[in-house]
Amino acid sequence: AKFVYDFTEGNKDLKDLLGGKGANLAEMTNLGLPVPPGFTITTEACKTYLDSGEEPAALRDEVSAHLDALEEAMGKKLGQADNPLLVSVRSGAKFSMPGMMDTVLNIGLSDKSVQGLAKQAGDERFAWDSYRRLIQMFGKTVLGVDGELFEDALESAKAAKKVTVDTELEAADLKKLVTKFKKIVKTEAGRDFPQDPREQMDLAIHAVFDSWNTDRAKLYRRQERIPHDLGTAVNVCSMVFGNLGPDSGTGVAFTRDPASGHQGVYGDYLQNAQGEDVVAGIRNTVPLADLEKIDKKSYDQLMQIMETLENHYKDLCDIEFTIERGQLWMLQTRVGKRTAGAAFRIATQLVDQGLIDEAEALQRVNGAQLAQLMFPRFDEDTKVQTVGRGIAASPGAAVGKAVFDSYTAVKWSRSGEKVILVRRETNPDDLDGMIAAEGILTSRGGKTSHAAVVARGMGKTCVCGAEELEVDTKRRRMTVPGGHVVEEGDLISIDGSSGKVYLGEVPVVPSPVVEYFEGRMHAGAQDADELVEAVHRIMAFADRKRRLRVRANADNAEDAMRARRFGAQGIGLCRTEHMFLGDRRELVERLILADTEAEREESLKQLLPLQKQDFVELFSAMDGLPVTVRLLDPPLHEFLPDITELSVRVALAESRQEPHENLLRLLQAVHRLHEQNPMLGLRGVRLGLVIPGLFTMQVRAIAEAAAERKAAKGDPRAEIMIPLVGTVQELEIVREEADQVVAEVEAATGTDLKLSIGTMIELPRAALTAGQIAEAAEFFSFGTNDLTQTVWGFSRDDVEASFFTAYLEKGIFGVSPFETIDRDGVGSLVKLAAEAGRATRPDLKLGVCGEHGGDPESVHFFHEVGLDYVSCSPFRIPVARLEAGRAAS
Ligand code: ADP
Ligand code: MG
Ligand code: MG
Repeated sequence: AKFVYDFTEGNKDLKDLLGGKGANLAEMTNLGLPVPPGFTITTEACKTYLDSGEEPAALRDEVSAHLDALEEAMGKKLGQADNPLLVSVRSGAKFSMPGMMDTVLNIGLSDKSVQGLAKQAGDERFAWDSYRRLIQMFGKTVLGVDGELFEDALESAKAAKKVTVDTELEAADLKKLVTKFKKIVKTEAGRDFPQDPREQMDLAIHAVFDSWNTDRAKLYRRQERIPHDLGTAVNVCSMVFGNLGPDSGTGVAFTRDPASGHQGVYGDYLQNAQGEDVVAGIRNTVPLADLEKIDKKSYDQLMQIMETLENHYKDLCDIEFTIERGQLWMLQTRVGKRTAGAAFRIATQLVDQGLIDEAEALQRVNGAQLAQLMFPRFDEDTKVQTVGRGIAASPGAAVGKAVFDSYTAVKWSRSGEKVILVRRETNPDDLDGMIAAEGILTSRGGKTSHAAVVARGMGKTCVCGAEELEVDTKRRRMTVPGGHVVEEGDLISIDGSSGKVYLGEVPVVPSPVVEYFEGRMHAGAQDADELVEAVHRIMAFADRKRRLRVRANADNAEDAMRARRFGAQGIGLCRTEHMFLGDRRELVERLILADTEAEREESLKQLLPLQKQDFVELFSAMDGLPVTVRLLDPPLHEFLPDITELSVRVALAESRQEPHENLLRLLQAVHRLHEQNPMLGLRGVRLGLVIPGLFTMQVRAIAEAAAERKAAKGDPRAEIMIPLVGTVQELEIVREEADQVVAEVEAATGTDLKLSIGTMIELPRAALTAGQIAEAAEFFSFGTNDLTQTVWGFSRDDVEASFFTAYLEKGIFGVSPFETIDRDGVGSLVKLAAEAGRATRPDLKLGVCGEHGGDPESVHFFHEVGLDYVSCSPFRIPVARLEAGRAAS
């Protein structure tokens, strides 16, 4: 194999082999852009080195040959005493990764060649500045010396001279600093700073290889599901110098505004600087537009190059460049990151420019971005004080009174206060408080911390790891930078999309994108209009492309109507249990307590018209579209009072010698129905089989509602869904009764209702015997929430708060399997059941109604396995439509 590629040999499609940076350096070289010559060592070489602990045999010679060629081209040798060639050694994996080794600049400088460089450049200061940078970077990243030691020494040098910025240090000062730095290396690394340039280069290359396996890099890969065997490439690039005086400098730029997508000049420039000075904030940069005044020739050339890059990559690019004494050099480019709003706008702009087509535009945006655009936002025009910034852990805008413990959060929220729970970090004991709070703010912990994971699971706004905030839970207060103290009860606002924390109440404005979906168009700011226009067009692209239909999970007419506005093509899950709550509870209680058949029938008879009315409303809201109604699913005890509360009431009545016959019966029933594992107990189809008349009452309500809608010239399309089936026998019995009821209603009303009956597939056994179950089902709807619980053997309510954090931190999950479908486990059961079901009944309709139906990754999976539709909560519908379109293009 060939282990080394000259920049002229690669191209942008070789990212696997050359890493992102190397592939793009090659691409720019071949476009004829001014890239300093160099070469890339492949990921293959890295893999061999990591597997065997040694470089592949051929690598050394290949590197030598390429170095020779580079020296030839540059007319000087690496580290040559009188006129040194210097290089940078830069890591560059396929995906950019925190934890990978930083770049080492100025390799080739030594006690000797620093003199040569000074003479050659006619600038002593520059040469010593470059040398001290080399020792600093090399010491830190290759030899593992604590970087602060160098920083401290640099600070002392500045202090001794009473100057504030590094450019004010003179050659003599820097020379002293080099001596100091070399001493630090000697003491800390136990060896001298290497004077042999080739040794410097080889050590740096090996350090890049080794950095692939640092703990941080490994953890990051586990969390992001990046394979561990990709390896990193290493780029060796001849140095150009931005630190050669005022006619030199370094900068970063975007080909268009990454916040709005507008074309224009965006970037920062710093004169007389090298490498990361520009982003490190050591001196104040100037806006890129100012470069026009500083160096018009370079500026014009840069603008030209940016246009070339955009037309070539057909996307927004970000770039790094350096100017050496009036000569422009390109050091990096890649397709640039952008805000969610800009992603939509740029995608449509590029379509309009004729650079990409609709299918490609869909690949330029994603559902997570759309979801982000749908959250309400803080009104940016209000003048409020930002007091901190943490990690944007769970989106949304939350306002409330600061409370510092769970107990207060619950107490205050019960009395109608809105609260933000502020903690250093959360743990399972904080769960009640988190549920009660509008939002959660912590000063410690990252994206996988307990607070972040649980908040995301609950869909609650969360900012975590806001480290500038000093949270003192004992004294119930926090101190913000500047010393201001937020006491318990003070209003604060947190933005879970940006991670910002504000003092006081920031007004919340609805998202213009939601206003648009809701059909409430209004003349807004130009920015909002452009965004809405872009979203509108992208959604149209997606709807044209997608094969999956998108339905909503909705239990009442109001939600159904909203879902329709958001583009739902039916209801995939209507839960009937909500129809059993509120003032109907009493009827349900009587049903459960019934001693005689007559009593039971009486309560069912009273429930029937109420249920029917619900369905009439739902069917009319969804006229012409399918509505899947799930028969009663949860365990009965959920409709009865809490056991402790009831015991107290009984005891109280007893002590007061009041009559408590009924209470006692209720308590006995609660005891009778109490289950250790309700999730695995008497629920779903099991209820239908042991409580006579319950399911048939529900079926009758559906059938009669449908008949009534038909009589009113409506077009009801009801589908009856039986939950928690594990074996076809259960379904057959329920189905037989249901068919009979439907036939009765049809006969009585003289209508053909065309009701279909199907089942949920939410137990492993159902998935494994799907071929048999399909004999009795006209459709399957995968209940992936319960399926995930039963396949993994954990109960969601318990595990998310207890051990998921640990699992995420250890990288066992990249993401909770309740958030994104576990393709390998739960997913393969879905696939198997879909295939077996269709083998039995080719026209079997297949859908999914778990929360996964609105999750981007999962939608792609459901597309791949050939389901007909996904169903999700009304607010996720646009996301599902978009992702279904992306999956199909
Ligand atoms: P990162 O992946 O962190 O962006 P880079 O390899 O791009 O690391 O390098 C860090 C900094 O050093 C960047 O500002 C880059 O432009 C600069 N740099 C890298 N190689 C050279 C070089 N050969 N000459 C001048 N500057 C360089
Ligand atoms: Mg870096
Ligand atoms: Mg870079």
